[in-house]
Amino acid sequence: MKNDIIEIRWHGRGGQGAVTSAELTALAAIHEGKYAQAFPSFGPERRGAPVLAFNRIRTDRAVRERSGIIKPDIVVVIDPGLVSLINVTDGLKPGGTLIVNSARSVEDLQQDFSGDWKLAVVDAASIAKKLLGVNIVNTTMLGALIKATEVIDCDSLREPLEERFGARAKSNFEACKQAAENTVISEITPSGDKRPRSFAVEKLPKWNELPVGCVVTDVGNTKAFCTGNWKSQHPEWLDSKCIKCGICSIFCPEGCIKQQKDGFFRADLFYCKGCGICARECWTQAIKMVEEA
Ligand code: SF4
Ligand code: SF4
Repeated sequence: MKNDIIEIRWHGRGGQGAVTSAELTALAAIHEGKYAQAFPSFGPERRGAPVLAFNRIRTDRAVRERSGIIKPDIVVVIDPGLVSLINVTDGLKPGGTLIVNSARSVEDLQQDFSGDWKLAVVDAASIAKKLLGVNIVNTTMLGALIKATEVIDCDSLREPLEERFGARAKSNFEACKQAAENTVISEITPSGDKRPRSFAVEKLPKWNELPVGCVVTDVGNTKAFCTGNWKSQHPEWLDSKCIKCGICSIFCPEGCIKQQKDGFFRADLFYCKGCGICARECWTQAIKMVEEA
């Protein structure tokens, strides 16, 4: 690593551990005697919503910059679904590195991007499921970061992982090492963009055109996000307490609570991300959040 400052942007969803990845990276760098920062950027939502985390790492002097990072040297994408939803390469410096968790091959994935970057791909989900038993890939992706950039050493992660995960540190370290071994790296060329990409929502309805209590599937991006598989809990309705006011459907950030024929409300669990806002907003306590099996 050169003495210049290295800036990293992590893309994930709430609950995937992007912030933890950034913190562990900073701790590993500090363990090596470098100077480092880690900080998150959250939107107003929680589990399932896209989140960002950042690192600054420098070897020769303290990091005093406190501004946001808009031109990163390295971008790490923890959630493969974000590649088609967000411009993850926004601001990525020429010569920078894009690291993606994806089951797609590096040859296939590089067709989606155009720029003077290095692309590193690893199927972190498979590794995490095999070694950790869950599809939480934040520590696994540290291995891809190490392989693609050498910004930190693998061994420097041991202590931060032990402090953070205790008895589970060993398996997380193993997942990290396996990811490093399985990361495939390729160059992207500026002319490599063969597939049209659009991140903009084409047309949104006016507020008074929206149906009451529904999943908006024909316009907007609710359908595209499909956050149902991210929930660790889901709402259950106690109809005896429900007065059919519809408040829960108004506050649901995914717009996935729909009124049934009998007048009671239910969430479409394919889109429900388990944030619990509906249960908090229901003023008759007719909704309770239940842990996923
Ligand atoms: S906010 Fe509570 S009482 Fe009102 S419709 Fe929803 S569940 Fe029923
Ligand atoms: S149904 Fe409830 S828990 Fe599910 S996304 Fe909507 S507000 Fe959140």
